[in-house]
Amino acid sequence: SQIGTVRYGNLERLNYFRKEEFEVDWVKVAERTFGCVYKVKLKLKQEKCAIKTLSSRDYRSMLRVSEIAKAKLKYLVSIYGLCKDPPAVVMEYMNRGSLNNLLPTHVLTWPKKFQMVHEVTRGMDFLHSMKPHLLHLNLKPANILLDDRLHVKLSDFGLITWEETSGKMTFIEHLAARGNISYIPPEAFTQNPEPPTAKYDVYSFSIVMWEILTQNRPYQGVNMTEILIRVTSGKRPGVEKIPDDKPPECEEMLAIMQQCWHQESSQRPAFSDMVWKIEALSDVLKLPDMISGRETKKSLRCKPPLPALSRGVSSSPSIYSYLKRKDFETFKHVVTK
Ligand code: ATP
Ligand code: MG
Repeated sequence: SQIGTVRYGNLERLNYFRKEEFEVDWVKVAERTFGCVYKVKLKLKQEKCAIKTLSSRDYRSMLRVSEIAKAKLKYLVSIYGLCKDPPAVVMEYMNRGSLNNLLPTHVLTWPKKFQMVHEVTRGMDFLHSMKPHLLHLNLKPANILLDDRLHVKLSDFGLITWEETSGKMTFIEHLAARGNISYIPPEAFTQNPEPPTAKYDVYSFSIVMWEILTQNRPYQGVNMTEILIRVTSGKRPGVEKIPDDKPPECEEMLAIMQQCWHQESSQRPAFSDMVWKIEALSDVLKLPDMISGRETKKSLRCKPPLPALSRGVSSSPSIYSYLKRKDFETFKHVVTK
């Protein structure tokens, strides 16, 4: 809607309206014990809105809800709709492709890495705080997309469901065929696994976190059976792969990561418990010029342009080759500007 574009286009912070921004003729629609609902018109664009006055307690609750709405706009890829023929989902186009392409081809600075981890946590916290909560079950770098400034948004959430066992394939076989084996928690590998819980996503997140912090691939060169055996016996990607130039705040980040890949799902923290801790760690590293929005140039340094190797089996080759070329163009732009 017009309001959506005008008012919420760039939501760095929650938007506050002033009374003067509305036309003076407020039409009362309903009256309740704690307040009223009015039909009003925004002066700008003459957009019709409803204003509902609140008690201070309700106002505080709405503050929390608005934070959630903000997270939805900022950290999740918008779905515009569906297409019946061919069956397809129509969604927001993310200019810089996915983390899957970016991690092997660019060197990210520590503030950028922390910021990405934080943004993923915000998106996941949003999904898990929905009622009923929405499990992602497909969290991996290919589903973490990037905008021009390398801010991340999650995609393909809710695509995979526990019930989805096409034909003879089990849930796990289906995920393995998608190339998701590294993101599956140990409890899902058992004979008769319980349906996945929010802690499934927390485990996948820990592996993603390791990939962002190390810019490496987990279990490289290890076959699927061996990965399954290792993970079941409690092994995880090596923390020694974290680059030596890490800031002191990284220790706390690693502690969170290790808690998230705990063998016992009940010992893994919820996203709502981590989100503010990770935000605080990310804020400490933020450089003054990152806030001014020039971070893209600052946080990317040049590595020889490696081909972006595709992960997983379901990726479309045409999209990949397009993104590689596009990525390279942007990349040239970054270093020559
Ligand atoms: P899955 O079906 O399990 O999510 P996947 O993420 O590996 O598998 P796709 O979802 O088909 O495969 O995405 C393949 C690639 O296409 C992504 O890695 C990304 O680079 C690109 N891509 C996907 N969605 C978008 C989008 N909305 N905007 C820009 N690029 C996208
Ligand atoms: Mg995807």
